[in-house]
Amino acid sequence: MTRSCSAVGCSTRDTLQSREHGYSFHQFPSDTILRSKWIKAVNRMDPRSKKIWIPGPCAILCSKHFLESDFESYGLRRMLKKEAVPSVSLYKVLKSRYEEIQDCRDEVTPNK
Ligand SMILES: [Zn+2]
Repeated sequence: MTRSCSAVGCSTRDTLQSREHGYSFHQFPSDTILRSKWIKAVNRMDPRSKKIWIPGPCAILCSKHFLESDFESYGLRRMLKKEAVPSVSLYKVLKSRYEEIQDCRDEVTPNK
């Protein structure tokens, strides 16, 4: 099964082709604090529970969501820094792009 990026609105798939295009794929960190920072950054809602989405064991993010400065180079290999938190092309970007369409839809905020 091909894995794809877990970020909202991103459909980059973990394939040989995307890797050839220079994308890399990163699993959610096992460190609890860092992991929760990633979850907050992804800011995704679980459609069933209407709660914040928790990444499963196979959840990955593609390199589009990290800054160049989040990576360290070891020769030809590019590694994500230990403390790196995704910050690019996440939900906020998507929201501003679709703001006109989604303006009157408020699915993300749970009703109280
Ligand atoms: Zn992505």
